[in-house]
Amino acid sequence: MITHHLNDQLLMAYSAGTLPEAFNLVVATHISLCDECRARLASFDAVGGALIEEQTAPVQMGVGALAATLARIKDAVPSARAQPTPALSTRDRVLPVPLRAYVGGGVDRINWRPVGGGVKQAILPTSEHASARLLYIPAGAAVPDHGHRGLELTLVLQGAFADSQDRFARGDIEIADEDLHHQPVAEPGADCICLAATDAPLKFRSLLPRLAQPFLQI
Ligand code: ZN
Ligand code: ZN
Repeated sequence: MITHHLNDQLLMAYSAGTLPEAFNLVVATHISLCDECRARLASFDAVGGALIEEQTAPVQMGVGALAATLARIKDAVPSARAQPTPALSTRDRVLPVPLRAYVGGGVDRINWRPVGGGVKQAILPTSEHASARLLYIPAGAAVPDHGHRGLELTLVLQGAFADSQDRFARGDIEIADEDLHHQPVAEPGADCICLAATDAPLKFRSLLPRLAQPFLQI
């Protein structure tokens, strides 16, 4: 049961293809898990398509113009777009399809690096305007409390975490910005795996994470 969804702003930007790759990946991953946001995206896609049609004046087309246009559209489609999910074993179901390409398979393929306090991360290869990482938070453990200089999207893939805002479980997305200072804590009982994307460095209050920040690229 997903209770925390994408907002219209993110869905519209995704539909228009204006999001950095890291945010595209989070949106595509949420959409692959969420029927509600997939339906809302379809309506934004339809509106966008209609606008493009209206604004385009008819012109004389040369031979091969259609093929060339189709090829251009194909190139322009973001690679992280949600695909229908093929049947997977239970263990493989943690990572939805859009994420699997970035990891080279399922959870077994994630290249975890310790970041302290039992928390591990794996930075994903995306374009430079925003960064994406997988986070592994052991059951009951906390991420250092922090604020945000930009936008942070956190999508839960396994287990659940809670902060001052609410509780977030598989499929839920937390949208954090400059106004939010929080400390996500994984629920006891299950280790929590999240996908997080940020477009600016976090603001840590305590010294240790601040010192480690350049090494963790967080
Ligand atoms: Zn949703
Ligand atoms: Zn945060």
